Amino acid sequence: MNLRKIVIAIDGYSACGKSSTAKLVANILGYRYIDTGAMYRAVTLYFMEHHVAITNPKEVSRALQQINIAFVVNSKNVTETFLNGLNVEKTIRSMRVSERVSEISAIKEVRMAMVEQQRKMGKEKAVVMDGRDIGTVVFPQAELKLFMSADLLVRAFRRQKELLEKDRMIDLDDVITNIVQRDEIDTTRAESPLRKADDAILIDTTHVSLDEQVDEVVRLALAKMIINA
Ligand code: C5P
Repeated sequence: MNLRKIVIAIDGYSACGKSSTAKLVANILGYRYIDTGAMYRAVTLYFMEHHVAITNPKEVSRALQQINIAFVVNSKNVTETFLNGLNVEKTIRSMRVSERVSEISAIKEVRMAMVEQQRKMGKEKAVVMDGRDIGTVVFPQAELKLFMSADLLVRAFRRQKELLEKDRMIDLDDVITNIVQRDEIDTTRAESPLRKADDAILIDTTHVSLDEQVDEVVRLALAKMIINA
C-alpha cells in the first residue's frame, strides 16, 4: 500500500491532551512530533532569565536572535526540549513559566520567529505538530487538522495528575486559574488567536480515554495517507 506523507495539525485549549495524543500518534505513524508550546515556553524561560523588556520590540528581536531551540529524542524515545544546548524540558513545565507563557506568546516578534522555525521543521511533512495556530497560521494547508477541547474540570484534573507524576504538587485551584488565564489570553490576543480552523475536525476529549483519542486520530490520519491506486 502506498502511503503519502502528511502534516497533522492539532490545536486546541490548554491541557486537553493535545501533546499526549500527538506524541503517541507520531510514534505509531513513525512521524516527528513537534511541540510548539514547548518552543514558546523555552522563549519565555529565556526572557524571564535575561529580564528582557517585553514592551521594547528591539530588545525582543535582539533576544530572539540569541535563542536556539532544539528537540532531542532521548534513549527512552522521549523528545526533550533544549534551549541553547541546555535541557530545559522540566523547567519549561514549571508553574512560573506557565504563568508567563501566554503573555510572551502574544508578542508579534516572538510569533514570527517561532512560526518561521515551525514551517522549516514541517517542510518535509511526516510531522504531528500541536499548538494553538498550527491549522490556521503555521500550516493552513495541513492535510489533517484537529481541534481539541474538553470540560475545564476534566482538563484541570488531568493536568494536576500529570504534574504530580513529575513530583510537583499544585493546588487544583491554581491549575484551574492558570488554564483559564492562558485560554483567555490565547483566544483574545491580536496576533493569531486560538481558534478552530473552518476545516478542522472537533474532538471533545471529556469522556474519551487517551487510547481512544489516539486510535481515532490514527484512523483519521490513515484515511488521508492512503493513496488510492
Ligand atoms: O501547549 P502548551 O500548553 O505547552 O503551550 C503553552 C502556551 O504557549 C500556550 O498557552 C500559548 O500561550 C502558547 N502557544 C502559542 N502558540 C502555539 C503553541 C503554544 O501561542 N502554537
